Amino acid sequence: STSKTFHSLRPPIHLPPEETPLSAAEYALSIHANHSPWPDSIAIINSSTSHKLSYSEFITRIKSLTSYLKNVTKLCKNDTAFILCPNSIEVPILYFSLLSLGVVISPANPISSESEISHQISLCSPVIAFAVSKTCHKLPKLKHRAILIDSPEFDSILTMSPPAAAAAAQRDLEKVTVSQSDSAAIMYSSGTTGRVKGVVLTHRNLMAVIAGYYPSKQERNSPTVMLYTVPYFHVFGFFYSFKSIALSETVVVMERFDLKNMLRAVEKFRVTELAVAPPVVVAMTKSDLTDGYDLRSLETVGCGGAPLGKDVMKVFADRFPTVDLWQGYGLTESTGVLSRSNDPEESRHWGSVGRLTAACEARIVDADTGDALLPGKQGELWQVKERDEEMAKKQSAGSIGYVGDPEATSTSLDPDGWLRTGDLCYIDDEGFVFVVDRLKELIKYKGYQQLLQSHPEIADAAVIPYPDEEAGQVPMAFVVKQPQSRINERGVMDFVAKQVAPFKKVRRVEFVSAIPKSPAGKILRKELRKMFPMPSSKM
Ligand code: AMP
Repeated sequence: STSKTFHSLRPPIHLPPEETPLSAAEYALSIHANHSPWPDSIAIINSSTSHKLSYSEFITRIKSLTSYLKNVTKLCKNDTAFILCPNSIEVPILYFSLLSLGVVISPANPISSESEISHQISLCSPVIAFAVSKTCHKLPKLKHRAILIDSPEFDSILTMSPPAAAAAAQRDLEKVTVSQSDSAAIMYSSGTTGRVKGVVLTHRNLMAVIAGYYPSKQERNSPTVMLYTVPYFHVFGFFYSFKSIALSETVVVMERFDLKNMLRAVEKFRVTELAVAPPVVVAMTKSDLTDGYDLRSLETVGCGGAPLGKDVMKVFADRFPTVDLWQGYGLTESTGVLSRSNDPEESRHWGSVGRLTAACEARIVDADTGDALLPGKQGELWQVKERDEEMAKKQSAGSIGYVGDPEATSTSLDPDGWLRTGDLCYIDDEGFVFVVDRLKELIKYKGYQQLLQSHPEIADAAVIPYPDEEAGQVPMAFVVKQPQSRINERGVMDFVAKQVAPFKKVRRVEFVSAIPKSPAGKILRKELRKMFPMPSSKM
């Protein structure tokens, strides 16, 4: 019943009519062009070199690159570009250019292993790849070319004689018609299994998430200076790259998180807001390094992507009383943010991941009965990201599914447009969302199990998350040895490490005589936990 549907308490969003041809890149740039309070502020800064681009320089580079990719590289609408790049100021320029040509962006984690990369490439079938000198050796011999975005050649493409390039790009763009319903990106869910899925997001999905931030609440005298430690290849950094331009923010880009360099950049560039994942907040609460820098410019820290302990939030608040620390929660499948805090008052609901974002609806569903539950009750969170009021029934989950995987798509996307998040949550009477646990852990960890079971000396295995203060959770393996096997803890860890990205390594191994299972063969996580008592989760 509708009374069991939770509606967003934010003002509604206003998107252009769906039939209007428009790319998410043009949409973000048009909001900037029409609403920026500052004539030509700084768009982006490289935190280590201090190299800066003003908005007009940033936009000229997008136009030059767009023209090059269309006329020289001959990229066409619906082509896919695979991207294997750490954060840099070139990445968002590339994103804007590709999207304005209707090219589908497929960014992957540069530390992925070669086998992960070939799997991703087989999913998205790119015609071109963009990489940097440090990552290009990981690309399998593509049928098509790879372009290095940290090369002098690339820089000269970006700085091609501006007026001519801009005029050419303008002419060219007139010929490319991008529909809002076209695919904009194939993102790899940063799940913990060996095998990842490619989540397809449309231009409209991205536009809806940008619209949820505009108009921004506070009136400011100077631009928000936003430092990202979150990567551009993850949905958090991905949609932020468009949202920041729409809101005329100044973005300080860090290639790689390092606490000292981050604090130095906050001081140097008078950073007002940080976009980070939980380990950065943990580091800020623990390190004495923070005392050595002038952090008075800092107003807000937005943290998301994984659980942040309530206790850590309290310690942070004591240590930085003038900084508003808020959490956002979302999935790649929901085009990122699904709930977040919107002001200091909301942020003080420690432990909550804020309230549903604009245009978002949610249900809390009982996993066994399928019933929608009332406020305060725990169940799986289902969400609709954008419901179109005028077209009554039309609604979008924030993604149109997984590329080449109709089975996974129908498991997670309901025919009515609901996305099953796989997260155990509850929503209180005031609309605050709380994430309790991950129901999908069972599924996410299946990939590890299969990997371990493929080892000749391993009879059976199960992997579960083990609470870790820094990382939130690390994978822990329970292993049943084959008779006579002499495999040890190191051997198990090395075996997994060779086949997955470094952050997915198994960090703990326990040998057991059997893996507890239900009659249906499902691994009983609870029993495993009892066999090996763990520190209680901070969530
Ligand atoms: P991914 O799509 O790989 O970014 O993973 C999305 C998943 O990360 C969600 O389904 C949650 O399980 C988890 N997650 C993201 N943000 C939060 C948060 N603020 N608190 C708890 N879990 C989160």
